[in-house]
Amino acid sequence: MKVLVISDTHDNLFAIKKLLKQIENEKITYIFHAGDIIAPFTLKLFNGYKLIGVYGNNDGERNLLRETAKSLGFKLEKDFENIELNGRKIALIHGTEKQLVEALIKSQLYDVVISGHTHVVEQYIIGKTLAINPGELCGYLTNKSSYIILDLDTLQADVRYLD
Ligand code: MN
Repeated sequence: MKVLVISDTHDNLFAIKKLLKQIENEKITYIFHAGDIIAPFTLKLFNGYKLIGVYGNNDGERNLLRETAKSLGFKLEKDFENIELNGRKIALIHGTEKQLVEALIKSQLYDVVISGHTHVVEQYIIGKTLAINPGELCGYLTNKSSYIILDLDTLQADVRYLD
């Protein structure tokens, strides 16, 4: 089972459209968004997918983000999501507090801990936990739009970039 992991889209509609085009032939069951979506209208681009997200530090319009997400059948309600999917325990958090992300990883309660915020791609394993950060889809800080295709059967994280 494959899921798309993204973060820090920061209203880059062009990058989101390009991404969705690039993955249209993948069998993506869910999109996990680690926050910093910004405008509620951005969520509409993901229509047709199942999306679970968390708020980032720049997501100010929380009520409208929540309502827009709900109207699209998405879940975007909190700063943290504890997801159980395909027999895997997954923590989803923006990662504004680095120590909190590190504590989640060290807790060994999760198979996967997903965070964003730094805009830098990361992938490492501590004990039984795979820690991943898909970097920034917006591409604003690094000039590279990155994302991860995560296979929940094998726990392989495939880091990819927009062309
Ligand atoms: Mn952030």
